[in-house]
Amino acid sequence: MLEPTPPRAEPAANEPFYREQIAEMTRQLEAVRDLPELPAFRSTGRLPAAFFEHFNAALACYDRLIEFVLAADGPDEAIQCRKGCSNCCIDLVRGITTPEIINIYHHVRTWPDVKQLFEYHRDSAELFMNILSVMTKPGEEPPGGRDPRIAEAHVRFNSMNRRCGFLDAETGCCRIYPVRPVACRYFFSLDPPETCSPLHVLYLERRTRTVHLPEEIHALLREIDHRFGFRPLNFLAGAFCQFAAEVMRTRPIQIGQ
Ligand code: SF4
Ligand code: SF4
Repeated sequence: MLEPTPPRAEPAANEPFYREQIAEMTRQLEAVRDLPELPAFRSTGRLPAAFFEHFNAALACYDRLIEFVLAADGPDEAIQCRKGCSNCCIDLVRGITTPEIINIYHHVRTWPDVKQLFEYHRDSAELFMNILSVMTKPGEEPPGGRDPRIAEAHVRFNSMNRRCGFLDAETGCCRIYPVRPVACRYFFSLDPPETCSPLHVLYLERRTRTVHLPEEIHALLREIDHRFGFRPLNFLAGAFCQFAAEVMRTRPIQIGQ
């Protein structure tokens, strides 16, 4: 998600409830990190049910933490986000980690329209990669990390107003809401929803509220990535297609005890 205003230090970070949620999130993610099945997953396609239990428990801590810090904000910072409000779901979702994409793939793998979902995301991924490729010199590797061309390609992608493949176009709701990525959880608008459209004149100036995770949680997510031994593309459409096609070859994940 784009961040027109810089992230701020979280005023509630020293409150006991905030610290409890971070401690619990840490415990849950450490339990994921230490599962012995992770390094072999790419060849076995097998994970214990505990992987999903611990990872989704960590996400639930994050949701409680977000609710807590937003409740402490003053009336001038009332967020405008409501169920079914989805102008922001045209935004390229970046910063996806391996456990997130595994969680999402497992969630949608049995859906009757999973093939269409895959094809839609594949087209979105190709669109973004094509935008990026015209910014690179012949023979040059696609830019990565914090290369400014990625942010520029991100803005150009958004201006095409292409909705996320997981958005239910009729209801305006996220179809993967319980397992949606961290990047879709932390971002809120303080200005009216129409300003969240890239076609709105105030799009880049709108007031936003972000609820970031502390660095120690991001470090744990990186450790989990490392234990898996592979790293999908780090934007949602690309990660979903790459994981489905190259890692799972469209097979379901085998769930063990
Ligand atoms: S960020 Fe904007 S479009 Fe998205 S839910 Fe909030 S108000 Fe609605
Ligand atoms: S995953 Fe869900 S919340 Fe995130 S952009 Fe897609 S539809 Fe919106």
